Amino acid sequence: MTHFSARSLLKNALSGHKDWPAQWPESQPKAEYDVVIVGAGGHGLGAAYYLASQHGITNVAVIDKGWLGGGNTGRNTTIIRSNYLYDESARLYDHALDLWDNLSQELNYNVMYSRRGVMMLAHSVHDEQSFQRHIHSNRLNGVDNCWLTPAEAKAFCPPLDITARRRFPVVGAALQRRAGTARHDAVAWGYARGAAARGVDIIQNCPVTAIRRGPDGAVTGVETAKGFIRAKKVAVSAAGSTSVVLQSAGLRMPLESYPLQALVSEPVKPCFPCVVMSNTVHAYISQSDKGELVIGSGTDQYVSYSQRGGLPLIEHTVAAICEVFPMFRRMRMLRKWGGIVDVTPDRSPILGKLPVKGLYVNCGWGTGGFKATPGAGHLLAWTVAKDEPHPINAPFTLERFTTGRLIDEAAAAAVAH
Ligand SMILES: Cc1cc2nc3c(=O)[nH]c(=O)nc-3n(C[C@H](O)[C@H](O)[C@H](O)COP(=O)(O)OP(=O)(O)OC[C@H]3O[C@@H](n4cnc5c(N)ncnc54)[C@H](O)[C@@H]3O)c2cc1C
Repeated sequence: MTHFSARSLLKNALSGHKDWPAQWPESQPKAEYDVVIVGAGGHGLGAAYYLASQHGITNVAVIDKGWLGGGNTGRNTTIIRSNYLYDESARLYDHALDLWDNLSQELNYNVMYSRRGVMMLAHSVHDEQSFQRHIHSNRLNGVDNCWLTPAEAKAFCPPLDITARRRFPVVGAALQRRAGTARHDAVAWGYARGAAARGVDIIQNCPVTAIRRGPDGAVTGVETAKGFIRAKKVAVSAAGSTSVVLQSAGLRMPLESYPLQALVSEPVKPCFPCVVMSNTVHAYISQSDKGELVIGSGTDQYVSYSQRGGLPLIEHTVAAICEVFPMFRRMRMLRKWGGIVDVTPDRSPILGKLPVKGLYVNCGWGTGGFKATPGAGHLLAWTVAKDEPHPINAPFTLERFTTGRLIDEAAAAAVAH
């Protein structure tokens, strides 16, 4: 594996960056693996990386129907935060934040994690009470979150208009300073590179068409476009397609799949220093390192597997941004796109064993799983390797939908769902 260093960068700069070796090989499937992971998004690739690096399990294939990182990982707006309400969630998302801190060094790959702060605007007494509740709960769990007055919010984000004449006045904000953004593609590429270097096969353009079970009910492998692959352990990390994939194993998942869209403006000089979300007006915004304003809001209203979404939602999103930031009214929008997100009834993920021997799932991250990428990968790898959940993901079972021990994060899911 190429080691990135100042020396290797300089050397390759002299040859116009044309001589870098491939970062991972184009693998073809073997007949059998110890573990097959369905879905080469950040979560699946992360799980493969940690299986190899922390559990010594390297006979692993990560299989994707498209190109790696081409699902929601490569389509999201890259917001990273951990200010969720419940204790279980605080542990889960803060675990991911801890891993983000050192991820570039761990992977020797710059994932451009930027702790620029995520600020959630309050526009009403109700917003303020809800955010204060989150702040208190977060602090009890050691999660960084604080309340800002309108003037403090403006000082943190100068483009903010805090004049009282606005239709949605800013009455304050909740700020998580440790939160921020990262470069989504780099996260997938970094994990892919690290996993492949440890012997993991990454098989692209190969849909998994079914999960096969033996007479005892246990998993025996997966049917794919490139033939049957045997495996005693199969982990499904297929985001919006999870329920379709698991249906073939005879499981009906409590998931709904919705299109979620985002858009970017033309690039402009740095003018927006943090991430701002307004749940009430219903949009969020940040600025990428390329200068584009990155904008998003909620899911479409109807379930669908179309990876694009409807125009009315984009119109609503842009209107909401102009409401909060009138200075952007004359910006031109460059492009929009969509992904398919998998939403659970309590807006928390399902991460653990399934009631089929050898079958594991990581799904239900809905509109907010990018922030969890290192944590989800790490915990899925642990669960698969040890055949039991890590204490952090132990509450995030499928069974909670029958026992009633829900982890209701609908409010903390913020703008999106
Ligand atoms: C527009 C948008 C904005 C978002 N913004 C944010 C944000 O700001 N912050 C945040 O935390 N989260 C955000 N999210 C959510 C986040 O992107 C996802 O929760 C996260 O990326 C999920 O990662 P993953 O690896 O599980 O899924 P994915 O990256 O979607 O990977 C799943 C993979 O499974 C593959 N697959 C599916 N079916 C099959 C099959 N049958 N066979 C083989 N492979 C299959 C897919 O091709 C895909 O590559 C956003 C999502 C979208 C769409």
